[in-house]
Amino acid sequence: MAFDFDLIVIGAGSAGVRASRMAAAQGKKVAVIEERYLGGTCVNVGCVPKKLFVYASEFRHQVEDGRGFGVDMQLNSFDWPTLRDNKTKEIQRLNGIYANLLKNSGVQIIEGHGRVVAANTIEVNQQHFTARQILIATGGWPDIPDIPGRELCIDSNQVFFLERFPRHIVIVGGGYIAVEFAGIFAGLGAKVSLVCRSGKLLKGFDEETRAYAQQEILKNSIDFIASEQPAAVRGLNGAEGELRLEFTSGAHVDGDCILFATGRKPNVQGAFADGLLPAMDNEGHLLVNDRFETSMPGVFAMGDITPGLKLTPVALAEAMCFVRQQYQGVDTPMDYANIPTAVFSQPELASVGLSEEAARDEGFQVSIFTSEFRALKNTLSGNAGRTFMKLVVDKNTDRVLGVHMVGEHAGEILQGFAVALKAGATKAVFDSTIGIHPSAAEEFVTMRTATR
Ligand code: NDP
Repeated sequence: MAFDFDLIVIGAGSAGVRASRMAAAQGKKVAVIEERYLGGTCVNVGCVPKKLFVYASEFRHQVEDGRGFGVDMQLNSFDWPTLRDNKTKEIQRLNGIYANLLKNSGVQIIEGHGRVVAANTIEVNQQHFTARQILIATGGWPDIPDIPGRELCIDSNQVFFLERFPRHIVIVGGGYIAVEFAGIFAGLGAKVSLVCRSGKLLKGFDEETRAYAQQEILKNSIDFIASEQPAAVRGLNGAEGELRLEFTSGAHVDGDCILFATGRKPNVQGAFADGLLPAMDNEGHLLVNDRFETSMPGVFAMGDITPGLKLTPVALAEAMCFVRQQYQGVDTPMDYANIPTAVFSQPELASVGLSEEAARDEGFQVSIFTSEFRALKNTLSGNAGRTFMKLVVDKNTDRVLGVHMVGEHAGEILQGFAVALKAGATKAVFDSTIGIHPSAAEEFVTMRTATR
């Protein structure tokens, strides 16, 4: 059977753009269907604009830190529309770059909502196209729990376009997005209440590291509301824009903006005609094998729509792996070991490899090395922030299994250590590495005595 395309990709986010460009570079005839914006969550309402907001929020701290160095700066005002609109202009520039990358690779961009309607067949804008292979890379969407008044709240897409800057923002959640925005809004001058139902931020990270991160993050004048479960939201009479978040306990918190950062749901439903849904897990992710094949022949999936780590670089790597497997005859599956990640909270938490708990669960006997200190800059700045570093080492082989850090530039620092872990570095290799002095990172190569 002759197909219109070798590959049709639904979703021009991180995975979709990379897969379609790389497949086209292999001489394949490729189309990518996108209904919203090129670049997906990461470029439009995720990593990139978030990092720009983080930069903006750091100036307040720099002004405060300057005084101990004799630098007397004044923070006169913060203009939210300037930040918001400059950010949007930069994102539009990136959208244009993505469009050019796709066009220059020979990928046909189809604007509209794509849906699998039959084997090898996609419907978009009432037209049908056929493809030998279909790749679903439609990502995820923020999920607000179904409570009364949820329509009064915003999600992590809307937060990038707020009409007016909140005086008091209530943020619900304890994951990446909640803590990153807590730091952003606190730094930009809003009052922040952070509501975390478990009382413990950043589930999934090394326990000791996440506890340290929580202690440091909450030093930023964040009002922490632990162990409360949202029950309802309602508008308050009298005060314009004032909202109340009520908890199941009967307690409440008031603010003029309520942001729910309570996780993201995979965008599966709209991608398939009724009755065609491939196998999914309990959370609605498409299940795939190590060749990214769903249970529907000829239909592949990757990125946030599948289970596993929801990180841009993972989606990009999956796309590269898919192209190698399908068009270059290299069968090697994607390697999910030692994926580094950073939370751009203030301070940052970054991590690569196994947590202490995961290492023990996997049967390793571990030595733990930790270091906790005040960074040199903070001696003069008077900033109360402290840094934490941790190595998880296999006692039997001396291999470093995990590297964890809470502190300034943790994300930048851990990227290099991720290379070391990938290369199978032992603690002896760390010990024989010369430090860069004076830096915080050198502490990772000077931890001589095990903590336990
Ligand atoms: P996460 O899954 O990281 O965190 C969700 C949080 O919401 C958890 O603290 C969870 O609590 C809480 N929660 C879930 N449901 C409810 C509820 N009904 N009521 C109250 N609290 C609730 O999701 P995020 O939305 O923060 O981020 C989604 C994903 O996006 C991340 O997992 C990450 O993979 C990715 N991301 C990556 C970034 C980066 O690389 N820097 C930045 C931002 C996002 P509990 O812990 O009790 O389950």
